[in-house]
Amino acid sequence: MAVPKRKTTPSRRNMRRSHHALTPVGHQECPNCGELKLPHNVCVACGHYNGREVISETSA
Ligand SMILES: [Zn+2]
Repeated sequence: MAVPKRKTTPSRRNMRRSHHALTPVGHQECPNCGELKLPHNVCVACGHYNGREVISETSA
């Protein structure tokens, strides 16, 4: 079985993990209903995108 030759030092381990941080999820207010929505996504509250209704509220 392959075994690591040297112990990873806390410094190296932490340098590797310096790229692991999560970034906060962005959000915008929907121009139609004011609900918070994800950018470039259809509003889940009213089904509008780019000023028009994309998902009809009766079907879903
Ligand atoms: Zn909306």
